[in-house]
Amino acid sequence: MVIYNGILVGLEFVWIVFMRINTKRYYVVVCFTILIFALFIGRLVQWQIFESEYFKRCAASFRSYIMKSPAIRGEILDRNGNVLAGNSIGYSLVIDDFNVPKGERKELMCKVMNLLNYLKINWNDNLPIVLNKGQYEFDEKKEREIKELKKYTKLDSNNPDDHINAISKKLKCEDLNKSLKRSVCSMYYSTRSNSMISDDINEKAMSIISEFNFPGFRIETSSKRYYPDGTLAPHIIGYLGLMSDEEYEKRKEENYSMDSVIGKTGIEKLFEGKLRGFGGKKAMQFSKDGVVTETVQLEQAKPGNSVFLTIDSKLQRIAQNSLEENVKSSARKGSGCYSGSVVAIEVKTGKILAAASYPGFDLSKCNENKLYLVELLKDPKRPLINRPFNGIYPPGSVFKTLTSCAALQDGVLNGSDESIYCGGVFKPFKGRGIKCTGHHGGVSLFRALARSCNVFFSECGRRLGVERIFHYAEQFGIASKTGIELPESNGTIKNILNNKNKLGASHAAIGQGEVSVTALQLAKLTSAIASGKNIKPRIVEKITNYTRENDVEIFPQEEKEIEVSPENFSLVRRAMREVVLSGLATDFRNFKVPVAAKTGTAQNSSGSNHKTFICYAPFDDPQIAVACILANGKYGPNVKAVCRDIMNGYF
Ligand SMILES: [Zn+2]
Repeated sequence: MVIYNGILVGLEFVWIVFMRINTKRYYVVVCFTILIFALFIGRLVQWQIFESEYFKRCAASFRSYIMKSPAIRGEILDRNGNVLAGNSIGYSLVIDDFNVPKGERKELMCKVMNLLNYLKINWNDNLPIVLNKGQYEFDEKKEREIKELKKYTKLDSNNPDDHINAISKKLKCEDLNKSLKRSVCSMYYSTRSNSMISDDINEKAMSIISEFNFPGFRIETSSKRYYPDGTLAPHIIGYLGLMSDEEYEKRKEENYSMDSVIGKTGIEKLFEGKLRGFGGKKAMQFSKDGVVTETVQLEQAKPGNSVFLTIDSKLQRIAQNSLEENVKSSARKGSGCYSGSVVAIEVKTGKILAAASYPGFDLSKCNENKLYLVELLKDPKRPLINRPFNGIYPPGSVFKTLTSCAALQDGVLNGSDESIYCGGVFKPFKGRGIKCTGHHGGVSLFRALARSCNVFFSECGRRLGVERIFHYAEQFGIASKTGIELPESNGTIKNILNNKNKLGASHAAIGQGEVSVTALQLAKLTSAIASGKNIKPRIVEKITNYTRENDVEIFPQEEKEIEVSPENFSLVRRAMREVVLSGLATDFRNFKVPVAAKTGTAQNSSGSNHKTFICYAPFDDPQIAVACILANGKYGPNVKAVCRDIMNGYF
């Protein structure tokens, strides 16, 4: 219209000039002007009539949007490729403020919310105000969120109504009833920094929501961590979480954003750099009615690498179930036992087959329910601790296997025949002695180990001294960390070096005093006796690309020789076999393959004694070694039952 009016004014002006100054010189000027206008009109006709569709399209498609595709995290798998932590590709409902028509936001939010409620879909409701008996109240459990809300509304008021009013003013929804107002205000408030309304959209809901085609609301694909069984090996896999401020500071250079999710514990944390994927980005142009008119790929998505663990899910499940069952069974008998750990190791490779920690937790709940993790952190039983690698306990008599190797190799014991007299107490010096479990009389290595005679091994310890016991603990690779990939405790064997007590070495030799170890260290000790080698335990088999076709990294076996002769190893193995044949573990005598084992009880001044058990099998060709600790376990059958269930599952 502006152009059209302009043309009329122009023609009028030319006519006036033509009428008033009727001279030859001006004829030229006037004709020239008419020509220009004619061209102008011609172009206008072309635009208006012949190319009108093109311009309509241009005018309509001014809305553009950067569409992100999800960053797909690498999977965590067991040794057989069974998924432990995978991904589920789902859909999210997002709001794109830019495309919400002016003045329609309130109505649209009401409609969307009603639809979500009808479809029973959870949406991100982060407003820390609840409606209770018709009154708005702060959700007192959400202290941090309340602070955030006050920052947002710029109100210091402790009256929740003031905050609701502030938000409803912005949204112009003061007229709604209290319940609807709260919900709409929450949707508005919860999407202020993160445009996602819900990441809980299933396929059916997706198709229904798409039908409605609410302007400014869109469905995007999203990727969520998925656990076929969230309770399986949760301590090993680890959980994911939003980055803390410090983590963001550290990682912002690596292309993370404030709302990135990263591995917080376990393998997820250890291999964060390998597992993380990169999302893609494309620029999309939309017409007014939401039709995509153009798409440009800006960044290609790149999924993360997958991590294969050495554990066997089936055996892991057996280990966890049996551990739970036996902790509970021991507690029912009045032991006060509430926690335990067990590790099964592949003797020839050092690969962990199973590592169970009780109490455990459920990874799938960690991601879905923020309060769940808070509860776990507060739980006095400390279920988040990965006990097999980090829980340290005095090993008790299972440590006598190491003392046997040391005594034979150092020659302080004259072979397996030397007999030492047990009169029920070891008391070479004045003062307190070390009590034995019985009066064993004259015992040599086999019988001493089978009967777990304290006097025999206390004497071995006295002859060895703390330095030599420590030396062999180092040789077996259990005097400090074993070298497993995940965080682990040192244990406290090193502390025996500081013990100047005359009985210090004797206490250490029977696994008491300063000696405390993890179940992992015990499994490594057992495996080392069985194989004769100090093999570094490991839980990561390899890293591959996302589709598992190509290896990205493989981890070689690392092993060291142990300063114990094959003959001496053979004697200790036979002594451990004797424990099963005629000693304290005869319950394994009829097991389907020959088993070698050692029992242990560690005195505990602050409750029931701890129960330990180590074993390996088959005796003549060792494949699997298992070590179990029941803290405050008190009863032997329970700790043995855990190991038997695992070996039953393996063979
Ligand atoms: Zn004895």
